[in-house]
Amino acid sequence: MPVESLFPRLEPLLPSVGKPIQYVGGELNATNKDWDAAEVRWALMYPDAYEVGLPNQGVQILYEVLNERDWILAERTYAVFADMEKVMRDNDIPQFTVDAHRPVRAFDLMGISFSTELGYTNFLTAIDLAGMPLHAVDRGDDDPIVIAGGHSAFNPEPIADFIDAAVLGDGEEIVLAISAVVREWKAEGRPGGRDEVLLRLAKSGGVYVPKFYDVTYLPDGRIQRVVPNRPGVPWRIAKHTLMDLDAWPYPKNPLVPLAETVHERFSVEIFRGCTRGCRFCQAGMITRPVRERSIEGIGAMVQNGLDKTGFEEVGLLSLSSADHTEIGEVAKQLGDRYEGSNTSLSLPSTRVDAFNITLANEFSRNGRRSGLTFAPEGGSDRLRKVINKMVSEDDIIATVAAAYSHGWRQVKLYFMCGLPTETDDDVMQIGELAKRIIQTGREVSGRHDIRCTVSIGGFVPKPHTPFQWASQLDHETTDARLQKLRDAVRADKKYGKAIGFRYHDGKPGTIEGLLSRGDRRVGRVIEAVWRDGGRFDGWSEHFSYDRWAGKAEEALADEPVDLDWYTVREREYAEVLPWDHLDAGLDRDWLWEDWQDAIDPDGALEVEDCRWTPCFDCGVCPQMDTEIQIGPTGKNLLPLTVV
Ligand code: SF4
Repeated sequence: MPVESLFPRLEPLLPSVGKPIQYVGGELNATNKDWDAAEVRWALMYPDAYEVGLPNQGVQILYEVLNERDWILAERTYAVFADMEKVMRDNDIPQFTVDAHRPVRAFDLMGISFSTELGYTNFLTAIDLAGMPLHAVDRGDDDPIVIAGGHSAFNPEPIADFIDAAVLGDGEEIVLAISAVVREWKAEGRPGGRDEVLLRLAKSGGVYVPKFYDVTYLPDGRIQRVVPNRPGVPWRIAKHTLMDLDAWPYPKNPLVPLAETVHERFSVEIFRGCTRGCRFCQAGMITRPVRERSIEGIGAMVQNGLDKTGFEEVGLLSLSSADHTEIGEVAKQLGDRYEGSNTSLSLPSTRVDAFNITLANEFSRNGRRSGLTFAPEGGSDRLRKVINKMVSEDDIIATVAAAYSHGWRQVKLYFMCGLPTETDDDVMQIGELAKRIIQTGREVSGRHDIRCTVSIGGFVPKPHTPFQWASQLDHETTDARLQKLRDAVRADKKYGKAIGFRYHDGKPGTIEGLLSRGDRRVGRVIEAVWRDGGRFDGWSEHFSYDRWAGKAEEALADEPVDLDWYTVREREYAEVLPWDHLDAGLDRDWLWEDWQDAIDPDGALEVEDCRWTPCFDCGVCPQMDTEIQIGPTGKNLLPLTVV
């Protein structure tokens, strides 16, 4: 049965909403396939506005991987703003895809990529607008199977009631495996209905289906057990790891938006994973081990991406891009290739200790020396040891001195407040460090227009990290510490004006903490907030702490747990954590020992990076049957064409 486009009904209504272009699709490199020719159809969602969601690499990669198969069709859908939501409800227009404006409910599968938990309410809006029951148990055979992915899916328990399934880790291979299961089930005439296809997915071992697991609780509110309730369903669900990045050079046909988006560049992921071992960093922990894309692979992707899009900026993405073993050659050879053209290169995330001036010079050849950003994260040497960020104050000063003496005038430093064992003094040292940076910058450059911006966010303990047991700092103390720091910086007559100070209040971090380490009971809070109008919680202008705190109190009134219980409470080793049955490959005892090393009363013990030192048995490689893949390969970036 053909599924009609909703666009003829949508188009006349578009002039009445803000930024209508975000709903029209038609981007360069978008795909529009024949509905009837496809055997399996996916609606892929990024649960934020189009301007944020379109550049998302994960969605773009899966969109292309799926559409390359002639038997699969994939389209995209994004969160709609409040004005559009009203127009859709008033005119009975369901959640639609931007590619062919088909109703999401007509698809076989709906895949949602969560990079932050604050997208959960937007997800509920989309499900509801699609005309699907909010709760997975109420869905019928005609509803799409709703599958969560992305980093937040490593603890999907707070949204367990609303999703049918979750997948952990790299999506490229598992979306094809899921498609194959659904294709077979449909070809057989959908035996056993929705339950059967979910059971087949669960039994494959690579898909988590929450309804096949029962959770019981102890009288004090802690989890007692998480137990499979169907024969053949595994006790633990493993993450997926793509082992050969060169074999998956996506996106090959990057989308070029018609509307303005948050990133207007072509991005190449130069490696996945990070073994630096920063203890707060969920992304680093859950994406292990390190797998590099080869220098040739990067060269080919950059050339192809620019040819296909016309973008003038190339971002070399990863968790710490300067750590690629051949980054120097990559930068030099790309610099040579695009010398004199309008193409500029950027290295969006650089560690202080991996930065060097030669590299920075290569990256600024065709561009301005605008600013450099580093993330020391902790304000004092002591605290940086606790978080295993092995960079001393002297390292930071040496790095910024090199930058200022080579023509950079602005340095941005990113810190966190509320890290385990942190005191007021650790936070005040951020200000002292900033002053030393300005002083050094003035000395080495001989100029007075040196600036340093300090940006501070609240720390949120995340699942699958050594800090997963930690107490989160309450937002009142976070705000008080940051206020004190800001006052001290502003009061400094000599350096205060040269230091920019940006911080977010601690309240959103508390709610992110609830959603990050929550269990299934937190789903009630999410639903209550959404029913009360909660939307776009990742946007400060839409976020309401009072709504979240109030609904948490109401929704958890009959439970021995509350907002503080989920956030500021430290956990013990023996406690069953909501995500313990989800396997990121990390050995739980290793994580615990690393946590104990962090809070050692005699001073934190540090762990080296296993890329350059022997394996320290975090568990990932044997558990996931993977290995570290790094260069150098000693090769070149492809046929070098100097432009
Ligand atoms: S198992 Fe060993 S080599 Fe592999 S990521 Fe962990 S520490 Fe590194």
